[in-house]
Amino acid sequence: MKIGIIGMGAAGMMAASQILESDFAGELLLFEKNSKIGNKVLISGGGRCNVTTGIHDLGEVLKKYPRGSKFLRYAFHEFGPESVYNWFEDHGVKLKTESDLRVFPASDDGHDVVGVFENIFLNNQNCSLLLNSNVIEVIKVDEGFEVICKDGSTYVLDKLILTTGGQAFRHTGSTGDGYSFAEKLGHSITKLGPSLNSFILKEDWVKELAGVSHKHVVFKASLEGKKIAFEGPCIWTHKGKSGPAIFAMSSLLAFAEFSKDSPFDLFIDLYPQMDQESLKNEILKFKDINHKKLFKNAFTGIIPKRMVEVFFNTLGISLDVLCSEIKNKEIFRLIETVKNCKVSIIGRGKGDEFVTAGGVKTKEIDSKTMESSICPNLFFAGELVDIDGFTGGFNLQASWATGFLAGNNAKKSCN
Ligand SMILES: Cc1cc2nc3c(=O)[nH]c(=O)nc-3n(C[C@H](O)[C@H](O)[C@H](O)COP(=O)(O)OP(=O)(O)OC[C@H]3O[C@@H](n4cnc5c(N)ncnc54)[C@H](O)[C@@H]3O)c2cc1C
Repeated sequence: MKIGIIGMGAAGMMAASQILESDFAGELLLFEKNSKIGNKVLISGGGRCNVTTGIHDLGEVLKKYPRGSKFLRYAFHEFGPESVYNWFEDHGVKLKTESDLRVFPASDDGHDVVGVFENIFLNNQNCSLLLNSNVIEVIKVDEGFEVICKDGSTYVLDKLILTTGGQAFRHTGSTGDGYSFAEKLGHSITKLGPSLNSFILKEDWVKELAGVSHKHVVFKASLEGKKIAFEGPCIWTHKGKSGPAIFAMSSLLAFAEFSKDSPFDLFIDLYPQMDQESLKNEILKFKDINHKKLFKNAFTGIIPKRMVEVFFNTLGISLDVLCSEIKNKEIFRLIETVKNCKVSIIGRGKGDEFVTAGGVKTKEIDSKTMESSICPNLFFAGELVDIDGFTGGFNLQASWATGFLAGNNAKKSCN
């Protein structure tokens, strides 16, 4: 019995390890177009590899997936964040959970994660790791599959696991090839879009804030009549906004359309610690007891200094105005800007998305086995499927868990 896995990223590597660490007596062929395995795992988390999340409540974990949360429930039940943590530790990778609940190798080096799989593959005689093997076509034949590589080599397999990833960071090898393989085998691909990206904003003043960061702001927007919000840290860039809370917003807005001519309104509460009325009272109190002081000092500790300057300038208020001189109407405009700062999204950071939203329709895959419900003996796992999560280890977690199920189920009845 021959099983093939196309794509040696997180999902493919985990699927392969499940097959090889069992009493599998068949032949396992691992196709990878690159000259090494796990390219994207190596660059994930800035090279530190945020392997999974430290959140263990599965209900909470599943809330981090704008697409695919229902589909992932069983996979996480079988191989959730705790199991992933234990699996890597059992395989010799010491992990640590940081204060924001992201889990990394204690060494802060993704090579340790990929090294686990290299060891498993190299030490197994049932496994052929076919590096530099760019699969260009997959054909259904009788009960199995024919896999054709760019160099002309062909392989016939009884079972096939597709783990070619999405199409983000294409230079890593993930160029979306699996979508056409899946389509050719009878599957539908949902709309694809970038997710976990920065935004380009229309406002000219953003460049003056480049590098200014916030520990906690709230973003709000309205999408197709539905209100969406996300809170967390973010940073201003030369062209717009980035950071964890923006990535989450981008995930919720993965299929929203915007451009220079048709901008998308995003509202930011830059001081969520206080409601608008309380903030107004605080500022008015400052003004009343500090007649001779500069009014701009009322915003110290509320928004960063550079932002105070930008807001005063854009609203045409002098930075030298004293508390005794400022007009109430100007105060209210400033407070409105702090609590409800409107910016216009006109684009996404080009090619900087971390994942692809959309993929093989989950309805066409058995969520308990990862087997296709259209084409028997075909399995899927990882980002190729219509599942994607926020930043924080959730995307790798989904790839490990679906890879775990695909590997374990593909090897059934294979001996
Ligand atoms: C910069 C960056 C940082 C990230 N950081 C994190 C993080 O810290 N934590 C987290 O949870 N997620 C992170 N992600 C997301 C996460 O890395 C991915 O969601 C995850 O790696 C997807 O795994 P996968 O196995 O489905 O696909 P991939 O890792 O994309 O692997 C697919 C593999 O298939 C191979 N392949 C594709 N087509 C073919 C073909 N035709 N023939 C042969 N081989 C083929 C590719 O070369 C590749 O090796 C990050 C993503 C990026 C881009």
